[in-house]
Amino acid sequence: ATPTALMVGTGRGAQLGILIKGPEVLESTRRVDTVVLDKTGTVTTGKMALLAVHTAEGEDEEGVLRLAGALEHSSEHPVARAVATGAAARVGALPVPEDFANVPGLGVQGIVEGHAVLVGREKLLAEWAMELPAPLARAKAEAEAAGRTAVVVAWDGEARAVLVVADAVKPTSAEAVRRLRALGLAPVLLTGDHRAAAEAVAREVGIGADEVIAEVMPQDKLDVVKRLQGEGRSVAMVGDGVNDAAALAQADLGLAMGTGTDAAIEASDLTLVRGDLRAAADAVRLARRTLGTIR
Ligand code: ADP
Ligand code: MG
Repeated sequence: ATPTALMVGTGRGAQLGILIKGPEVLESTRRVDTVVLDKTGTVTTGKMALLAVHTAEGEDEEGVLRLAGALEHSSEHPVARAVATGAAARVGALPVPEDFANVPGLGVQGIVEGHAVLVGREKLLAEWAMELPAPLARAKAEAEAAGRTAVVVAWDGEARAVLVVADAVKPTSAEAVRRLRALGLAPVLLTGDHRAAAEAVAREVGIGADEVIAEVMPQDKLDVVKRLQGEGRSVAMVGDGVNDAAALAQADLGLAMGTGTDAAIEASDLTLVRGDLRAAADAVRLARRTLGTIR
């Protein structure tokens, strides 16, 4: 590879909204045969909205939204932003938590107005030996069957509500998946979200249910990439979250959404400046063309 040809390649990359960390990245870009796609914020906009609130008997919506919204206000997760924004729109000013902690891949926990509050996946509840009452479990199952994300709210040892949030698939994602396939890259949709929600998104962008890996904890995303590499595949991974950083670094080619977190961008070889997944296909095409001319 002559330096001049590589520089022409990377200059064209900048025009296409692709930032390349170094010329050596082009070689791995050329070789990849599998592309692992994070769901939330990568294939979808990550701009979730609060659609519904299902409360347990004896709880009112306002009380639930005050406590859940207060806690989620401190988190940058797309689900958290939907809950905090939706809560503030419905109940006005939110209290400030006395204590707050992120539980990666599961949710948030903390103290609000003297109550020990959890907001997140049902698994987070299970860790505190709490169970969802049957009506809430039904509401959750219905939301997930419709491809939405259901988040549980609990405080002082009891599950109090299920919040339903959803975001939209980016309008360019389906075309991006088609173009990646045309370049010979097999897509895999990887997410910490519930399987039904993941499959609904997969369907929308033309990814089969057998190409979906769901309910994966953040630290396990790394292992999924390693496993695919162990099968002899050369893996590109596209992600946006702090949760994706280790997997992005492990991948043969890490691509970060420019709209995502600094951690993802730092761990990656390429940044897709505009957060448009089609730029991933552009990058592969560009690398192949650039190296093709100099071989
Ligand atoms: P993804 O892999 O799709 O980017 P994450 O691994 O970040 O998702 O999170 C997995 C799931 O954990 C989310 O779909 C959501 O159900 C739950 N979750 C994570 N963080 C929060 C939070 N702050 N509040 C509520 N739920 C959360
Ligand atoms: Mg994400």
